[in-house]
Amino acid sequence: MSNSYVVGLDQGGTAVNATVLASDGTFLVGELIETPSRVTEGPDAALAALTTALDGVLEAVGLDRSAVSAVGLDTPGPASAEGRFSSRGSTNFGHDGWRNYDIRGGLAQHVGLPVTYTNDGNAAALYAHQVHFGTRAPRTSSMSAIVGTGLGGGLVQNGQIISGAAGMAGEVGHVHVPTVGLLEPDQPLPSCNCGFTGDAESIASLTGIRRNLLPYWLGRFPGHPLADLDIAEAAKQLRDYAERGDELASAVFRQQAKAIGALFTIVANVTDPHAFFLGGGVVEAGSAFRDWFLDEVRDATRLRDEQQAIVEFALVPDRDMAGARGAALAALAAGGAADAGKADGSASELVLGEASDARSSGGRSESAATSR
Ligand SMILES: [Zn+2]
Repeated sequence: MSNSYVVGLDQGGTAVNATVLASDGTFLVGELIETPSRVTEGPDAALAALTTALDGVLEAVGLDRSAVSAVGLDTPGPASAEGRFSSRGSTNFGHDGWRNYDIRGGLAQHVGLPVTYTNDGNAAALYAHQVHFGTRAPRTSSMSAIVGTGLGGGLVQNGQIISGAAGMAGEVGHVHVPTVGLLEPDQPLPSCNCGFTGDAESIASLTGIRRNLLPYWLGRFPGHPLADLDIAEAAKQLRDYAERGDELASAVFRQQAKAIGALFTIVANVTDPHAFFLGGGVVEAGSAFRDWFLDEVRDATRLRDEQQAIVEFALVPDRDMAGARGAALAALAAGGAADAGKADGSASELVLGEASDARSSGGRSESAATSR
């Protein structure tokens, strides 16, 4: 059984989440195992932190590096499909050393193991796809939208991530959505960090709430208690208000749902997937709010009759662990474990499971697998 494990490392702005996947599809880690990511100290410190996370998770499951055939790494972008950050560096890592930095190559050299790179939204999309479809995964397609600080996600076709020529396929947050019927007649066009106006992330993200939706809707509800708070704090508290049925908060989330539905409608006409997955903070909301939100998204997604009969809507499971688990799956699919995966990199028929004694650390974090 040597060399039949892959390690998944999800490198975020504050923490590294780690998991171990056996070649038979069993995750040896049941809950979140997190260590500091040290990304703001630059690549050298971050590589040391990734190595600590790698060795830590192996120790937790009683393996050493010789049992590992490959590492799957995921990070927020922007980065190429091979894991080289953009010339502007990483939006979330705040250190000049990340400009043009090859994180995949750097880690491979540092730990002496093959490393497969996936962006974080794509990793979560791959995990959602594999969990939902199981043995049907290699013959099905899906799109994931993950609402966090930004709007991440990805497209999966026949069990594999569509990464595109420049690694920028599946940047679902920066797709423009029609604003007619979505925005109120007197509502300003929402702007995004990326420079676009009226793209999906400018509405369906925490940043979109803070920057665009909340300032507008507070004007429509004079005297609302959220008006007394700093706008960033008010944006964070908005979901609690929505869960209590607050009118302003419901209006904001209804707009988000419409934007996601408009995005799904576009993709339904581009890749025509079998399923749409929704992830992010909404997954951890109370079930009444969660169901309402998913229903609103479904109602706002315009499908043709032939698609209605096929298409499924579901939530991305295991929010905190989806990135690390998806990164591990990508490494496995790339042929990362000795007795699984196919040499041509095509998706294998995997049935995911968890070891009965899977380690539980119990910790929770806010770092979702989204574009942070
Ligand atoms: Zn954008």
